[in-house]
Amino acid sequence: KKIIHVVGARPNFMKAAPVYFAIRERSKFQQLLVHTGQHYDERMSKIFFQQLGMPEPDINLEVGSASHAVMTAKIMIAFEEVVLKEKPDLVLVYGDVNSTIACALVAVKLGVKVGHVEAGLRSFDRGMPEELNRILTDSITDYFFTTSPEADDLLVKQGAPAEKVFFVGNGMIDTLVRLLPKAVQPANDVLKVDESRGFALVTLHRPSNVDDATSLKRILDVLQELGKTMQVVFPIHPRTANRIKELELSLSGISTCKPLGYLEFLWLQKNARMVLTDSGGVQEETTYLGVPCLTLRDNTERPVTVTEGTNVLIGSDFKLLQQQIDEIVSGNAKQGRIPDKWDGSAGMRTAELLEQIL
Ligand code: UDP
Repeated sequence: KKIIHVVGARPNFMKAAPVYFAIRERSKFQQLLVHTGQHYDERMSKIFFQQLGMPEPDINLEVGSASHAVMTAKIMIAFEEVVLKEKPDLVLVYGDVNSTIACALVAVKLGVKVGHVEAGLRSFDRGMPEELNRILTDSITDYFFTTSPEADDLLVKQGAPAEKVFFVGNGMIDTLVRLLPKAVQPANDVLKVDESRGFALVTLHRPSNVDDATSLKRILDVLQELGKTMQVVFPIHPRTANRIKELELSLSGISTCKPLGYLEFLWLQKNARMVLTDSGGVQEETTYLGVPCLTLRDNTERPVTVTEGTNVLIGSDFKLLQQQIDEIVSGNAKQGRIPDKWDGSAGMRTAELLEQIL
């Protein structure tokens, strides 16, 4: 039997790696790794293959960046050829990026079964492109692999057959558990952290925060203010970097750098006093690490990080943000627990299930 894994953007690599490795270790399936090329440069793609120990992709569709429609269309055209030629028994798609829906749609129309890893997450905010990708992908998926029981409930309520919904745990956390011992302080001088002051780690890339000039400026103002209390370390996503440049916004007082490799970023997450983010994956990783996370969004598709973990939804309420920062600084940060099955074995459970399914 043959399985195609589809990866395209940064957060996909951490989710696909554990499934790929578990299948390689225990199953007889033939595996093909297809990279759509949605993220393509050294810092958003290549470095993760090296650090995660993933083999080079078997096929790279090299779509590059483009508008949503152009990118989705290009991926579909190129991936259709791959599926016709390779005739896989299953296509596994990950997360909520354009590559996820594009390849799921191609597969299902060619009569090939689709498995969605990280199914059943919803922010209930259709203004987010990722939410549309999640809804559409789950509506054509055959096998659903989830990170929380809440996701199972949602899928079944929306009509997914319960016997095809599997709570396997969190693959992104598998990668974290495996690589935490190898986490390494960034060599970059700008990021030399001052241990006595401590530092806040920041990531930002959601269109709702960075596309709108007013909201991006407001957030940078807050970061500059925070920079007076502690060091602020901000590896800047390419989308955000472009906006900051276009709008000529100031970053003074903030320790900025290009996006970091996984091992360097993991070191920063583990050692930060707090993390301010709008990333999905970072909300989960901070929950696992027990590090306070302040999410600069009105909603989250990962509610378990709020109900069980260290995550607090801030939205754009900067009074609440200041209050939360004060709590953390005075040692009263929200405490959390690690959600069930976020234990490093989600990939193994997925591989076991695939042996029964295929
Ligand atoms: N990450 C990284 N380097 C960085 C920023 C993030 O390795 O400079 C990792 C992070 O640890 C997590 C993943 O990238 O594993 C999250 O990806 P991203 O925030 O791009 O996507 P989202 O999770 O929001 O879909």
